[in-house]
Amino acid sequence: MSAIEIEAVTKSYPAGRRGSPTPALAGVDLRVEAGGFVSLLGPSGCGKTTLLKAIDGLVPVSGGRIGVGGVAVSGPGRDRAFVFQDFRLLPWRTVLGNVAFPLEGVVRSRAERERIAAEYVEMVGLSEFAGHRPHELSGGMQQRVGIARALAVDPQVLLMDEPFGALDAQTRELMQVELLRIWRLTGKTIVFVTHSVDEALFLSQRVAVFTPRPGRVAAELEVPFAYP
Ligand code: ADP
Ligand code: ADP
Repeated sequence: MSAIEIEAVTKSYPAGRRGSPTPALAGVDLRVEAGGFVSLLGPSGCGKTTLLKAIDGLVPVSGGRIGVGGVAVSGPGRDRAFVFQDFRLLPWRTVLGNVAFPLEGVVRSRAERERIAAEYVEMVGLSEFAGHRPHELSGGMQQRVGIARALAVDPQVLLMDEPFGALDAQTRELMQVELLRIWRLTGKTIVFVTHSVDEALFLSQRVAVFTPRPGRVAAELEVPFAYP
C-alpha cells in the first residue's frame, strides 16, 4: 500500500510586486510505500522543500494531487510531522517541554503529555538531558529533540528537510545511523530531502532524483545495497 501518492503536482509561486511567477515544480509523480524511506535528491532550488511542505499541507499546490494514507492533503494534519534543518526548538522550554509541545491540544493531561514525551526523549537517547534547554545542547542533540518532537504525535509520515545539513561531518554520520535505528524501531514512512548523493544512498531504499528548477522526478533509483 502506498502511504504517499503524488500525481502531476505543479507549483508556481505568485509574482511579487514586480517580476513574474516562480515555477518551482513542473509535474511531480511519486509514490512512497508505507514504511518506506525515500530521498528527494537534487540541486538547490529544484523544489524539494516546496514538495515536502506541500505534502505537509503547508504550501498549496497549483495543480495535481497529493494523497497521504489514501486521503487528499488539504492542510496540516497529525498524520504528518516535519523535521527542520534549523531544529526550530522553543528556546525557553526544556527538552521534555519541547517534545511535549505538539501534544498540547491532543492529550489533555499535562502529566500524560510528559509521560509520552519522556518515552520519545528516551528513544533518542536524551533522558539525562530532559530538563536542559536547547542552548545547552550540541547541534546533534538539538536535532534529536527535533526528531523526538516529530515522533511524539505518532504520525504516519516523517518529512525531513535536510535535517543534518547544519551539523559537522562526524555528527552527521552518527545521526544518520541513529535515524536508521529509529526508522526500523518505529516503522515510519520517511521522506528525506538532501542534496548529498552519499547521504541519499546511505539512508534510503529509493532515491527520487530531481531536475533543476522547475523540478520534476527525472529518475528513480532503487538502492540495492540498502543498509541492513
Ligand atoms: P529546494 O528545496 O530544492 O532548494 P525550494 O523548494 O526551496 O527548492 O525552492 C524552489 C524554487 O521556488 C526556488 O526558485 C525558490 O526561490 C522558489 N521559492 C521557494 N519558496 C518561495 C516563496 N515562498 N515565494 C517565492 N518563491 C519561492
Ligand atoms: P523562512 O522559512 O522564510 O525563514 P520563517 O522563519 O518565518 O520563514 O519560518 C516559517 C516557515 O516555516 C514557513 O515557510 C512555513 O511554511 C514553515 N513552517 C512552519 N511550521 C511548519 C510545519 N509544522 N511544517 C513545515 N513547515 C513549517
